[in-house]
Amino acid sequence: MASDCIFCKIVAGELPSFKVYEDAETLAFLDIRPVNPGHTLVVPKNHSVNIFDVPEKDWTAVTTVVHRLARGIEKAVAADGININMNNREHAGQIVDHVHVHIIPRFKGDGFKLWHQTPYKDGEAVKVQEKIKTQLL
Ligand code: 5GP
Ligand code: ZN
Repeated sequence: MASDCIFCKIVAGELPSFKVYEDAETLAFLDIRPVNPGHTLVVPKNHSVNIFDVPEKDWTAVTTVVHRLARGIEKAVAADGININMNNREHAGQIVDHVHVHIIPRFKGDGFKLWHQTPYKDGEAVKVQEKIKTQLL
């Protein structure tokens, strides 16, 4: 447990939350400021900051729960779809430095946009592809 981490405090029961699911390795609770009602955060009980330091075991437990909860949350709030999102590091929008996956119910016409996309320039995609493949060797 990280002593200054609000999600560790929620896991420990030192801060309140609306829990929707719990097992030995994970906790899922309602986001305090939902994009839409039913917006849920799934966290590992062990403290890690983000995708870069979370052990595979904890990450696997989180993704298994996300997979299980997505269907139930969609049904529970009669959503028309679900976004699964994770922000890693400040410039990707991470505010709370404890690994968490957002399950966000979406409704027809709710008006929320994801992000701006543009096509690759000529020859750019293959260069990016090679850079990524080299890093994965
Ligand atoms: P991030 O931007 O780090 O991916 O998202 C952090 C999320 O945590 C935000 O959506 C925010 O509303 C939520 N959050 C922040 N503090 C609390 C809290 O004390 N309780 C709950 N349930 N959610 C929180
Ligand atoms: Zn923590």
